[in-house]
Amino acid sequence: MDNANSRRFAPLVIERVLDLGGQLEALVRVSEPRYVRTSAYADLPAAVFARYPGIVRHRCDCGSARGIEAELRDTETPHLLEHVALELMVLDGAPRTLSGRTSWDFNRDGRGVFRVTLDYEDAELTFRQPELAQRALQQGLAAVNEFLGS
Ligand SMILES: [Zn+2]
Repeated sequence: MDNANSRRFAPLVIERVLDLGGQLEALVRVSEPRYVRTSAYADLPAAVFARYPGIVRHRCDCGSARGIEAELRDTETPHLLEHVALELMVLDGAPRTLSGRTSWDFNRDGRGVFRVTLDYEDAELTFRQPELAQRALQQGLAAVNEFLGS
């Protein structure tokens, strides 16, 4: 059994968070290849939607014509983290117009390292809360790690 062993690792690790002005950018490392895609976890999307039902209202720029639920059933786990963190921000009072993005360049950042950005201010500057985005990232990380670990 490698279960006891694997418990020592967090599936996703935030290595650093940069403030890009208007948005935070988190460098997220996927600790092992088996944690890269949500499709490896049959029960994961349903559990996420049950806990954060508002996610079904998200739009996703990754362009899945299948819609957000289908997208998150088969995507990179840092992308799931992005949507969980955005939803946590909304639950904390942020407007639904805020958006996020998940990208990667393994040549630049290293294998398994993703960049997750979250807006922390809206276009009208009526909302501006970097610390709320920071908290949502950390809480989202804990939630996704819990989902991946169970
Ligand atoms: Zn998305």
